[in-house]
Amino acid sequence: MTPTRLIFSSTRADPSPQTVDSILRVSRANNVRDGVTGLLIVGEWQFVQLLEGDRASVSRCFLRITRDPRHQDRQVISTGDVPHRLFADHSMERIDFSSVRSSVLQRYLINGAFEPSRMPHVAIEQFCRELSEGGGGALHG
Ligand code: FAD
Repeated sequence: MTPTRLIFSSTRADPSPQTVDSILRVSRANNVRDGVTGLLIVGEWQFVQLLEGDRASVSRCFLRITRDPRHQDRQVISTGDVPHRLFADHSMERIDFSSVRSSVLQRYLINGAFEPSRMPHVAIEQFCRELSEGGGGALHG
C-alpha cells in the first residue's frame, strides 16, 4: 500500500528532557502497534515530526498528537502519499537538532536560528531527507 507522509512543526511546552523521553516511550509502543514510522527532530524549543504509514493510521496518530498539551502552535508543513518511507526502520527516530552536523545545519537556519514555521516546506522535506541518510554525513561534527 502507498504510504502517507505527514510533517508538522510545533513549539515545545517545556524544555525538560524527561518530557521528550516520555513522549518517545509511548510513541514508539503505539507506532509499532499501528505500523507508523518516522522522525522526531528535537530543537531547543521546537519539534518537527515526520510520520509515515497507512493514511488512516497516520491520521489517527496525528489527531492524538494535536490534543497533546506538551506542545503548542502546531503547523502542518506537508502531507501526501509518497512512493516509499524515509524512516521505514524507525518506530520514531529521535534526532536532536544540536547533533546535526553544522555544515548541514547552516543551510536550514534563518538568521542563525532554527525556525521551522518560517521555512519553506520543501526545505523542511529536504532536511528530513538528509537526516534519513544520517550515515551519509548529516549527523555529528
Ligand atoms: P492518553 O495516554 O490516554 O492520554 C490522554 C491525554 O493526555 C492525551 O491528550 C495525551 O496527549 C495527554 N497526555 C498523555 N501523557 C501526558 C503527560 N505526561 N503530560 C501531559 N499530557 C499527557 N504518540 C504516538 O502514538 N505516536 C507518535 O509518533 C507521537 N508523537 C508525538 C510527538 C509529539 C511532539 C508529541 C507532543 C506527542 C506525540 N505523541 C505520539 C503522543 C501523543 O500525543 C499521545 O500522548 C499518545 O499517542 C497517547 O495518546 P492517548 O490518546 O492514548 O492518550
